[in-house]
Formats: sequence, C-alpha cells, structure tokens
Amino acid sequence: MDDQLAFRADDQPSSTSPPVWRVLAVDDDVDFQRATAFALSELDLLGGRIELLQAFSCREAALLLARERDIALVLLDVVMETEDAGLRLIKALREVIGNSETRVVLLTGEPGRAPAHEVMRDYDINDYWTKSELSAERLLTVLTAAVRGYAQLKTVASARRGLQMIVESSNALFCSKNTRELSSKILSEIAVLLNLQAEGIVCVRAEEGEGGVAKARIISASGRFRPSVDASLDSLDSPEVAAVLRRSLQGQQTLCLSDCTVLFFPRFQAGADYACYVATERVLDDTELELLKVFSASISRGLYNVALFSRLEEMAYQDDLLKIPNRNALIRMLDMTLKDESKAERVLVLIDIDNFSGANTAFGTGYGDFILGLVAKRLCDAFDGNVLIARVRDDLFAILGPQTQVRAADIVALFRRQTRPYELGQVHSLSSVTMNLGDFTGSAGVALQDALLTLKQAKRAGHDQHAVYDSRLLGAHAEAYRMLLALRDAVEAGHISVQLQPQIDLQTRRVTGVEALARWRKADGSMVPPLSFIPLAEATGYILPLGDLLMRLALQAAKELADAGYGDIRVAVNVSAPQLLQHDFIERFVAHLQAAGVRPQQVEVEITESVAMRTFDTVCEKLRALREMGVNVAIDDFGTGFSSLSYLRLLPADRLKIDRSFVLEIGQVSNEQMIAEAVIQIAARVGMQVIAEGVETRQQADWILEHGCREAQGYLFAKAMGCSDLLRWLADWPRDRA
Ligand code: C2E
Ligand code: CA
Ligand code: CA
Repeated sequence: MDDQLAFRADDQPSSTSPPVWRVLAVDDDVDFQRATAFALSELDLLGGRIELLQAFSCREAALLLARERDIALVLLDVVMETEDAGLRLIKALREVIGNSETRVVLLTGEPGRAPAHEVMRDYDINDYWTKSELSAERLLTVLTAAVRGYAQLKTVASARRGLQMIVESSNALFCSKNTRELSSKILSEIAVLLNLQAEGIVCVRAEEGEGGVAKARIISASGRFRPSVDASLDSLDSPEVAAVLRRSLQGQQTLCLSDCTVLFFPRFQAGADYACYVATERVLDDTELELLKVFSASISRGLYNVALFSRLEEMAYQDDLLKIPNRNALIRMLDMTLKDESKAERVLVLIDIDNFSGANTAFGTGYGDFILGLVAKRLCDAFDGNVLIARVRDDLFAILGPQTQVRAADIVALFRRQTRPYELGQVHSLSSVTMNLGDFTGSAGVALQDALLTLKQAKRAGHDQHAVYDSRLLGAHAEAYRMLLALRDAVEAGHISVQLQPQIDLQTRRVTGVEALARWRKADGSMVPPLSFIPLAEATGYILPLGDLLMRLALQAAKELADAGYGDIRVAVNVSAPQLLQHDFIERFVAHLQAAGVRPQQVEVEITESVAMRTFDTVCEKLRALREMGVNVAIDDFGTGFSSLSYLRLLPADRLKIDRSFVLEIGQVSNEQMIAEAVIQIAARVGMQVIAEGVETRQQADWILEHGCREAQGYLFAKAMGCSDLLRWLADWPRDRA
C-alpha cells in the first residue's frame, strides 16, 4: 500500500540549524570539572556543538536529570558523596525517571575499581574509564560514540511513540461513521503525531467524474481555515493552500514541501480522491515522513470504511423506491429525539393517503408509485433539514421535527392547495395523527406503534381524519390488547366454560329451556364478566374461534341434559353477528350438532334484535335455514332496537326475549308509563312466543304472566350454573319451588 502513496520531496529542504548535544558532567572534583569544560569547549561533534552542564553532587545531578530530558550524555564520577552514590544516580535515572536514552560514561580517580559487569549491563552504561587514561583525543572518541548512540535511540523512541499513536489514532478513525467526523479526527491526529498546532489543516474531497478537482469541497478544516468547511476549494481564503491542494489532487500524489505536506489518498483506496493539507512550518524529517506514510495507509482505510459504511447505511436506512429515509431511519432518529431533553418541543406526525390501496388496485402499482413520489417530493420541498421525512411503509409517511415547523394542518394544506381535485396523480385526501413527543415516555418503537393505532382508530370514522395522540385513550386500547391476549390464553388453557340459566313456563312451572352463558374463570378463581370480553372478541374477530368453542360447550351440555332425561329442555346459544354472517355458518352449525349428537329441536339460537335488523336479508336467510332444520330462533334484547312491525312480521323467529330493562320498570314506574306492556303486545301481534329476561321478583313474574308473557328467565328462579349443578337443581325444582 505504501508504494501507492507517492511521497515526493520536490522542494529543497530549508537549512536546519546544527544540533546541540547536551553533556552533563557530575563530579565533586572542581579541577576535573574545569579541565572537562576546557576540553569540550571547542569540540565539534557529529556536525553539532556541545553544551556542558555541570553538577557537583549526585543530588544536584538527579534534580537536573529529572528536569531536563534531552541530555545526551552523563560523565559520572562513580565515587561521590558515598561509595555507591554514582551507581544510585544511574539507577534513579533509568528506573525512577524512566530515561533510557541518555548515555552514561563512568569515570573514576582510582584505577582498578571497575564496577561489576552486571552493573554495566543492567544500567545500560556505555563506558568506564579512569580519569588519568582519558586523553583529549580519547575523550573525543568516547563522546562521539556515546552521542551517536543517543541520537539513534532518540529516533527509535520517537518512531515507537509515533507508531503507538498511529495504532491509537487508527482505532479512532475506524470508529468514525461519516466523512466529516473522520476527517476532523484525521486533522487532530496528524497534529498530535507531528506535534503541530491543530492549526491550518484542511481536508478536501474531489467530486466524482470529469472536472472533479475543480469542484473539490472542503470537508473539514482546523484553525483559521475552519469557516471554509463545506465550501468549495476555490473559496478557501488562502490561494496558495488551495493551489497545492489542487496540485496534489491533480497529480494524484502526496507533496512534501518546505513548510507543508499535502497527503493524497487515491479513490481506489479511500473511496474518493482526498487531499489533506498539513501546515508543518518546517521540512519533516525522515522519521516523521515514515510515520505519515504509515498513518496515511490507515487514513485511506478509514476513508474507505466510511464510504462503505455510508453505502451500507443507505441500504439499511433508505427507502428503495422514494430514496428518502425509511422506517429504520425514523426509529433511529425518534430514539435519539426521545432521549433528548428537547423532546418536549418535538412532534411526530404520521400521514396516510386515504384509499391508497383502492387507487393502487384500480390504476396499477405504477400509478401508486407515482402518487407516493409526489407526496414524498411535496413533503421534502416543504421542510428544511431540521425535519425528517420518512416513509414508514406503503402509503404511510412520517414527519419528525420541531413543533413550530411541523403542523398537521399545514401538511394537509400542502395537498389541498390543488384546485382540480380529480386530476390524475392528485392525492384526494389524507388522514393524520400528531404525537407530541413531550407527552411520551416509551421507546421509539412503541411511539410509532401507538401513533399508528391512534391513526387507525381515527380512520375508522372515514377519510380526512386528523387525530392527536392521547396516551390515556391508548392506555385503554393497550388494556384491551392485553385482555385479548389473556383471553386467547384462557381459551387454550380451558378456562372458558358455559353456565346454564333456566327458563320457566310461568303457568305450568315447567322448565322449558336454559340459556348458555359464557364464563371465564381466571387462574386466581375470579370471574371475568362476559360483557367485558365478548364485545372485545367481536370487535377483533376473535369471536369466531371463541364462538365455535362456546357452541361446542353449549351443545355438550345439551347432550348431557338429553342423556339425563331432559331432552325436551331447549338449550339457547347466543350467536354474535360476525358468527352468523360467516358464509359457512349453517354448515358449521350442522357439524357441531352432529359431533355432539344433539337434535336440532333441542337447540335455540339467540341473536339480538339489532343484529337481525342490520343485515336483514342475509340474516333472514340464515334464520330460515336454521328453522327448516328444526332449530329454534329467539330474538334477544327485544324492544331495544325499536324495529318496525312490518319487518318484525317478516323475521323468521320463534320467540322474542323482552329485554331486562323493561322488566325492571315493573313495580317501579306507574302502569301508564311502562313500555313493557306495549312490547309484549307487539310480540303477540307478530305471532311469536314471548319470554321475559331478568325477572327478579315474584311481582314481576305475576305481572308479565297477567299481561300475556308466559315464559320467564331470571334470578327469581335461578342464576346460571354449571351442567352438573343444573342437573341437581332440575331434580329439586318441582318439589322445592312449585
Ligand atoms: P344476554 O344474552 O342478554 O344474557 C342475559 C344476561 O342477563 C346474562 O348476563 C345473565 O346472567 C343476566 N341475567 C339473567 N337473569 C338476571 C336477573 O334476574 N337479573 C340480572 N341483573 N341479570 C340477569 P351475563 O351472563 O353476564 O351475559 C351478559 C351478556 O353477554 C349476554 O347478555 C350476552 O349478550 C353476552 N354473552 C354471554 N354469553 C355469551 C355467549 O356464549 N355468546 C355470545 N355471543 N354472547 C354471550
Ligand atoms: Ca342472550
Ligand atoms: Ca338479553
């Protein structure tokens, strides 16, 4: 990879000043110090001069060494304050101060007292001399060797530090998810690497294709160049910098100039052509150039990763058809918004095109796509970058942004402005839901789901509906949802049963029938009343499987009754509208009868008056089929539907069940005000039998019998009970209560 990066030093380096080697002489012998100073004063060492520092005790030397790191060499008298003071100083230099670069030459006044070999090795001591042996000439040789060693160690150490930094910076680069973030990291890392002020560094990207260099843009910049970020390279307020950047991009190469370096990252490595200008104010040395080369490879990989990442992101967060953010993108943004303090000022609006699927079916998907494109464009044109427009799915769009900008009414107006509503490609109307995020405490997924539920509910009322999310309303909805799940579990666990409530012939005291009523016993033994789960099951369609089960249980009870000798007692089964209106209801019913082994004559089907009247013809057809089989038909809750007499006459039914509310009036309001009498009379007029439900008092029972209603059902006689209880009750009935 390195050879792809053409590093070219095409300008002459400016002359650098000669090095200064700092030497520290440590000796309490003043004469020796003076002699050393004299000997070193005129020395020229490896093209540089010597700066001598002197310490007269090990303590003084230690302080100096701790403060000054760039001392090339220590000339140290071993025997100082104490026998081992010199050695202790070296130990401190290496182990405490942590300086492994400074070279050490030991001196001693007394021959034959060489330190042990291990000491020389362990403390990295270069040389050992007796003072008398050290002629001026030899001193030069010793110093040269030591200083050269020092210079080499320095280079290695700085290269090592640089490499370490590259590893760390590269890690930082690979975490970057977008070019802006990455390039600003590159700038700061280069500044650290080369020990530069993060001042005057610019990163630019050439656009793709012909003339791309001319259209290069500044993607990040530091220091005085910062205001130019996002602008074109031409607008950079330093023509010289712009010129070298352009030269690098055009020549596709890295330039090392006297006061700056321009790194070039080619397209095939970085995903696009990049150039990075670094104001160095000096010529970089070989080590620095090497480091830059290595680092450049990392940068290229980082840039490439970012390009790859943004392509992946495009795939994951963009709608294929409309090229706008998709549901994932919305969820991500919503998630960030909900965690942010400013969420109180933010709002989510969902819009849904009314009757879109109808239009799609009628005119084809091409037309549908056209409409979607139109909506997306109009939304995107209407808002700035502060507002996220996303397609959630199908024809459902989301707008997420500040309350001050995003208002449902304005959005709707965007589509109403058109004067010719039936023009092809016109959105006729749309519905919306607005959710103020400040009110919301859940996660992004739940927010979207709740907003959608509100929208769905609103759309039940028709087209052009605009709802505002209200957590309290949805709380009830969520409760219902939990209930439905629990109901399904109850069905599976066998917690649903039917109980049977007797119906009595008031004249003969005979039990003529029983009504099967659904019961849900919870695990803790409590009962859920049918009025809280039957309507829910009806509304959600779950009544079909549940109704099947209830039918089965009721017919099982009928079979048990027949087997016990009560084959003449009718078993009434409540049937809901969705059940009855199934196209194969009759077939299913017959199958149930056969499976249970029950005669049709022993069964009665109860449907409410309102259901009977709602889809009159279809219902009549079904009821007729039932009656032809011999099944009885009862119209439940009679009197509450205020049906016209002419319709009632046509209804194929055997019995009208007078609603409990009329029975309740008996004995409570004056005779003239009671509707009950009229209701019983109507029943008699259409030639059906009548039964009163909810009879709780003897007075009520007497009254209805007196007014022509022979049968009754109510707590006066019995509450609903399980089949075995009923059998016991039946056995007792004539004797106990006749
Ligand atoms: P409904 O069909 O009008 O059933 C009569 C309701 O009145 C039953 O309530 C019954 O227990 C109650 N009741 C009977 N006698 C008296 C009385 O003397 N006083 C009072 N206060 N109430 C009395 P339940 O069992 O709670 O059922 C309520 C409703 O649930 C039923 O009204 C029916 O609409 C529905 N339901 C019950 N079981 C089924 C079923 O298996 N299938 C369908 N589709 N609906 C059912
Ligand atoms: Ca009923
Ligand atoms: Ca009823």
